[in-house]
Amino acid sequence: MSQEVLIGIDLGGTNCRAALVSLSGEIIVLNKVPTKINEGRNPFLGRIFRLCADLFNFAAKEDMQVIGIGMGAAGVISPTGVVTVSPNLSILNGLPLEDALEEALGLPATVTNDANAIAWGEAQFGAGRNFNSFLTITLGTGVGGGLVLGKQLWKGADGSAGEIGHFVVEPQGRLCRCGSRGCLEQYASATGIVKTVQELAGEGQQTVLENLIDGELSSIKVSEAARIGDQVALAAFKEAGIRLGQVLASVANLLNLDGVVITGGPSESLDLIRPAMIQEAKSRAFEIPFKRMVIVRGELGDEAGILGAAGLAYEELKNKKRDSS
Ligand SMILES: [Zn+2]
Repeated sequence: MSQEVLIGIDLGGTNCRAALVSLSGEIIVLNKVPTKINEGRNPFLGRIFRLCADLFNFAAKEDMQVIGIGMGAAGVISPTGVVTVSPNLSILNGLPLEDALEEALGLPATVTNDANAIAWGEAQFGAGRNFNSFLTITLGTGVGGGLVLGKQLWKGADGSAGEIGHFVVEPQGRLCRCGSRGCLEQYASATGIVKTVQELAGEGQQTVLENLIDGELSSIKVSEAARIGDQVALAAFKEAGIRLGQVLASVANLLNLDGVVITGGPSESLDLIRPAMIQEAKSRAFEIPFKRMVIVRGELGDEAGILGAAGLAYEELKNKKRDSS
């Protein structure tokens, strides 16, 4: 009998990556294409379908059978797989993406929010597998969140739950792309860390990053500067840590979770963020839920979203089978 496999897709603003994934969470082969969303809906869908067709061909040659397709996409995705609102892929707003995939490819498909897919990937195959209930915080251009409660992904009534990046940590703070002010992601994302450096340098504080302030400053550069003891760079990570700690205290008090999994680029500098984060959270949270909540780094890196999307497709298939029997 041929081996059953899934397709997991991570749809980002720049690239779309798709992989054949085994039922036990191994990536068998991974391909990617530029998303190029500006070229319009149909050319975009055509690229996704071809990407899947290539994987079908690969699977057939290897005597594997694709049984379902899962996709994680940036934005609010309704429980039926309609792209409700996607800031990065606004051309897709209103598109029943799940139905489009099923019709074109003839297989059951599941589309979910990308941060939820990452959380599910870590839940099934990564740092969250030993937690019953945990929150995944993804630090990137923004700050994403995915909540697993009692081993189930909590998507919320409209699929918009888990938006930890938009917890307010400074009521009159930096304007956020969501329209609010002082959201966590304005301080703890890669972009937020860079912004803190720019502000401190603008106040006249000395930094080795001086020449990069108006140009190619990235959180990686800030991390490199922090490693050689640059005070402004260290202060930017401390600021991110304090803001994360504020939010984690509320999260601990509200949900009494077993754990928190922190992923994404800046999580590689978690050692620079952690001391201020723990101190802040500990000083604000109730003792019992804070003690319970273990804070760890994600284990799957870039692959979490793909594995989680495939894993969610498999869950859906199992649920359907259960319902029909
Ligand atoms: Zn916001």
